[in-house]
Amino acid sequence: MKRVSVFMALALVLALGVGAAQASKLDDVKKRGVLVAGVKDATPPFGFIDESKQLVGFEIDLLKAIAAKLGVKLELKPVTSSTRIPMLTQGSVDIVAATMTHKIERESQVDFSITYFMDGQSLLVKKGSPVKSVKDLTGKKVGTAKGSTSEKNAMAANRKAQVLSFEDYPPAFLALKQGKVVAVTTDSSILVGLKNKDEKPENWEIVGGTFTEEPYAMGLPQNDSKFRNFVNAALIDLWRSGEYAKIYEKWMGPKTKYSIPLRWKMDIWP
Ligand code: GLU
Repeated sequence: MKRVSVFMALALVLALGVGAAQASKLDDVKKRGVLVAGVKDATPPFGFIDESKQLVGFEIDLLKAIAAKLGVKLELKPVTSSTRIPMLTQGSVDIVAATMTHKIERESQVDFSITYFMDGQSLLVKKGSPVKSVKDLTGKKVGTAKGSTSEKNAMAANRKAQVLSFEDYPPAFLALKQGKVVAVTTDSSILVGLKNKDEKPENWEIVGGTFTEEPYAMGLPQNDSKFRNFVNAALIDLWRSGEYAKIYEKWMGPKTKYSIPLRWKMDIWP
């Protein structure tokens, strides 16, 4: 009798274990036929609205390639730096590709793919500004976006700077144009996007080098290794096949408006 109940308990544990392992977002997405992704819509060249009012960009093309590998459609939902993690934890998006740095502290809420882009934080100022580096922000106002690593990094890099957080980067850039802040700070490629999308890019300059490391990774639901493995394998495959390079060239190659040299290599698993 005792043996039978131990056996039954074991069988139950096994059944539950197997059940839990199978409950992956990957299966939901396949069943639904749609991958719902959170992306930026005002951050060229990563995710932005183009002249024909289409939501396009580097991260969107990476997601399109992942959806194609899954054999599903792609649905895009705009997110900001402060909404992307809550939208993922609440399940309103399956995946996030939104200039998001893989930070250990963010691991308590979401999981991350492997790195698909590498950047560092810099400063955008008016051409000829006396602000040349983060040290020059002492006693001055600097704009950035709420919920970003840029806010915290700026405070840590210069405790005497006054960091003003806006809903997104374009309003922070507007504040710079209006003289309400002396600089905008975030990842250098986002600053290239702000500068080069402007009517007069020559009025602005990016200064101070990069003072942080910002490895971009896709945000994924917690504890879903089946889904995460799929996304990682897809990213590695895009890199290996040369498709990543093509997408990169299209958005950040030397002939593009947002020319950003690729100074990094994906961590490829055999
Ligand atoms: N990559 C940084 C972050 O994840 C800054 C850019 C952003 O706000 O998306 O916070």
